[in-house]
Amino acid sequence: MVDLVSQYEKIKPSIDAAIQDVITKAQFINGPEVQGFQEELENYLQVKHVIPCANGTDALQMAMMGLGLQPGDEVITPSFTYIATTEVIALLGLTPIFVEVDPLSFCIDPNAVKAAITPKTKAIVPVHLYGQAANMEAIMSIADEHELFVIEDNAQAIGCDYRYTTGARVKTGTIGHVGCTSFFPSKNLGCYGDGGAMMTNDDQLAQTLRRIANHGQTKRYYHDTVGCNSRLDSLQAAVLRVKLRQLDSYIDARQNLANAYDEAFAGLAGVSIPVRSNHSNHVFHQYTLQVPPQSRDALQTFLNDKEIPSMIYYPIPAHRQKMFASFDLASTNLSVTDFLTERVISLPMHTEMQPDQLAYICSTVQSFF
Ligand SMILES: *Cc1c(COP(=O)(O)O)cnc(C)c1O
Repeated sequence: MVDLVSQYEKIKPSIDAAIQDVITKAQFINGPEVQGFQEELENYLQVKHVIPCANGTDALQMAMMGLGLQPGDEVITPSFTYIATTEVIALLGLTPIFVEVDPLSFCIDPNAVKAAITPKTKAIVPVHLYGQAANMEAIMSIADEHELFVIEDNAQAIGCDYRYTTGARVKTGTIGHVGCTSFFPSKNLGCYGDGGAMMTNDDQLAQTLRRIANHGQTKRYYHDTVGCNSRLDSLQAAVLRVKLRQLDSYIDARQNLANAYDEAFAGLAGVSIPVRSNHSNHVFHQYTLQVPPQSRDALQTFLNDKEIPSMIYYPIPAHRQKMFASFDLASTNLSVTDFLTERVISLPMHTEMQPDQLAYICSTVQSFF
């Protein structure tokens, strides 16, 4: 699905030097690389504060802690997402309220959010799924009206440009009260292990999030609140500094690949290519087709036999996971989510696709249909 080896080969001298430098200086935890990366990412995203942490799941958890969400509070989230988004809600004793996604963008449906609000609702977690943005303008206006927090799950969309109806552009992850991202190796900005970050423009909240990520510590060995040990290590920060400089060209490569796929698959009967949203550009963390449910397994087997990887993101939506069996989900009826779950299939998407590989994937998919 990705080719991180070829990608590394192209930036090997810079990466190797950066890693060697960390080891030579032995500043493995909170070294200058972490501070440097934080500032460079703030600058890239045009956001006041980036708080690096250990992974994207921690980022989501700590965002909810930092906003003061309390057990029993309801958090509105799409069911059609990676499990981490929803898992941390339950982990903190909050109540996940699973809502529908928009069938075209795969992102949370603002009308469904509105309909799910109760007096217990405290937050909304839009997910910028596959690399394009949820309708943040609508979500922020609902949040304003009902005094709710918005936590953006930007793990799949770092670098994505949100477009306001006025034409103004900002990076996704900087619009809600907190944005969360992941630097898992296969993400658009991936390190060589686990990593993550929170983003916010709120000075006070940034301080709180930083404290939570560091054992609730205000001053060395003074712990004011219960926190976590969630740090981005210096080696990963050093890798990320090199890769952040490539992020825009990596996004270009993904978009070019998506355009080529679009051209190859647009005319295939029964196949839907990804819809490009009006709310943002698409940074193509995933390139996801919809195919008739009765042929999806056969397509996957066919591709597999021809040594072409493919993935189903995600075969079981959150509201159908056993993890949430203790919640009352009897009235949760998400027909769009179920519809998409049966139809989606993602193809290899990365920065290093060679023309012969692309041609082979395209002709193989075409020959199946
Ligand atoms: C990857 C991902 C996460 C979790 O990130 P980790 O760094 O793996 O913990 C959360 N949400 C979404 C949508 C993701 O794709």
